[in-house]
Amino acid sequence: MACNDCIMHQISSSELVKQLGGKPGDFPIAGSIELTLRCNVRCRHCYILYPGATKGEMTTDEVKAVLDKLADLGVLFLLMTGGEPLARGDFKELYLYARNKGFLITLFTNATLIDDEMADFFAAHPPRRVEVTIYGHTEETYENVTGVRGSYKRFRRGIELILKHKLALALKTVAMRTNRHEFEQIKAWAEGLGVPFRFDAMINPQLDGGTEVLKERIDPEDYVRLEGLTDHHRDHYQKLLDMAQKKPRSRKAFSCGAGIKTFHVDPRGNIHPCMMWRNNPYSLKTGDLDGWHQHLGALRQTEIPADSGCGSCAHHLACNNCAATSALENGGVPGRPVGYYCQISYTREKLLNLHRF
Ligand code: SF4
Ligand code: SF4
Repeated sequence: MACNDCIMHQISSSELVKQLGGKPGDFPIAGSIELTLRCNVRCRHCYILYPGATKGEMTTDEVKAVLDKLADLGVLFLLMTGGEPLARGDFKELYLYARNKGFLITLFTNATLIDDEMADFFAAHPPRRVEVTIYGHTEETYENVTGVRGSYKRFRRGIELILKHKLALALKTVAMRTNRHEFEQIKAWAEGLGVPFRFDAMINPQLDGGTEVLKERIDPEDYVRLEGLTDHHRDHYQKLLDMAQKKPRSRKAFSCGAGIKTFHVDPRGNIHPCMMWRNNPYSLKTGDLDGWHQHLGALRQTEIPADSGCGSCAHHLACNNCAATSALENGGVPGRPVGYYCQISYTREKLLNLHRF
C-alpha cells in the first residue's frame, strides 16, 4: 500500500472511523481537499510542479459550494492541503468557512507562510492538527530541496510560532537523496520537540507523468534499512508473505479503501478515490452522490492486466505498489509492476531473512 499521506493516517481515532465509515454505498467520513497546486517553494521531489498544473483552480465560491456538498455528505475529518494551501489569498476565508461547517481540519503546510498574523489567526481558530514537512536539518540542505533562499528561516519561524501558540503540531520528512545524510538529525530534532514525527521515503512521478523527480529516490536497500530491520518488522512482513501464499491475489486492481474509506478533491473540483489516483476525474461541482457511486463502482471493478507479474507475486500484500502508483508509472494502468517497488520487496525479503513456503 502506498498511501502514507492519506487522511486515514492523520486520524488517531481510527476505531471511530472504522465504525462510522467504510460501508460500500456510504460516503467516507474522512478525506482531503487540495485548495491549490500553487506553492511558494519548488521542492525537488514534488509531484505537482509541472506545466499547467495550476490551471482551472476553483474560485472562492466554488470551493465553498464543494465544502457544502462534503458537509451534506456527512464528512467529518477534512485534510486541507496543496500545493501550499496558505498560498491562496482567500485561505482564511475558506478555512473559517470549513471550520464553521463543523469539519475537523488537519492542515498540511510547509509553515513558511506562518507569520505572527497567521499564527494569531490559528490560535483563535485552531485546526485539529497542523502537519509540517521538514526538508532538511541545515539551511543549506533545506534550501537545496526547496530551491528558495530564505525558506529555511521562514520554516523555523513558522514552527516556533506554532509551538508558541500551542497548536497541535506533527512533523514529518521525506527521505530523499538530497537530504538523506541529515535524516537522523531531522528525526532527533523533531522528536526533541516532543511532537509526533513520521517519515516517508516514497517519491512518486509527477501527476503529468514526469519522472525527473524520481532521481531523488533512495536506494532500495537504504529504503528497507530506514523502515527498520527489527523482529517486529520481520514478523509483520513474514505474516504478509504467509497470507499471500494462502490466499491468491484478487484480480481487482484496488484492494485498499480508496473511495470507500477516503476521497480526495483536487483544486479544479474533481473528486478522486484518493490523493494519488488522478485518472478518470469526476466533477463534484456538477455531479452528485449517485453519479459518484456509479463512477467509483465502475472504477473499483477494474482488473489488473492478465499478463501482469503482480497477479502471481508472493509479495503483493506487502508491496508498496498499489493501483495509484502503478497507474502513475505505467501510463494510467493499475496493477502493473513498478521496478523500484519490486526491488524494495526483494531486498526486504533478503535483509529480513523472510522465507516462502
Ligand atoms: S490507491 Fe490510493 S488509497 Fe489505495 S493504497 Fe494507493 S494511494 Fe492508498
Ligand atoms: S510491484 Fe513487483 S513486488 Fe510489488 S506486487 Fe508487483 S511484481 Fe510483486
